[in-house]
Amino acid sequence: MNDCIFCKIIHGELPAAKVYEDENVLAFLDISQVTKGHTLVVPKVHQPNLYELTPEAATDVFTAVPKIANAIKAAYNPIGLNLLNNNGEHAGQSVFHFHVHLIPRYGEKDGFG
Ligand code: 5GP
Ligand code: ZN
Repeated sequence: MNDCIFCKIIHGELPAAKVYEDENVLAFLDISQVTKGHTLVVPKVHQPNLYELTPEAATDVFTAVPKIANAIKAAYNPIGLNLLNNNGEHAGQSVFHFHVHLIPRYGEKDGFG
């Protein structure tokens, strides 16, 4: 049995606010957004972290990322955006299904960083 939260979201077993979807990639709002529009991008195949990410999944995710960044830009009108990826508990990873954070930025008082 797969207890991965992101696999459950991918398979429709847990709800999420979807931002983008294609055959191999899903993007959805972080449940605890550090800024408005904070989005997570995941491959649909379960891969725990960057070290185990296949070239195919890396291509899928990073092909989608600019499209998703532009969708966030259009929807939220941020003045900047951070791309973040944590690998390992000591680097802040808490969900062990590879994901990229897209964090829109709104200026000094946006509460992040
Ligand atoms: P990490 O700390 O692994 O880099 O990021 C995991 C992210 O997943 C966190 O920002 C956390 O808020 C988010 N998260 C954890 N559980 C859920 C969930 O059930 N739904 C959504 N949408 N995000 C989640
Ligand atoms: Zn998973």
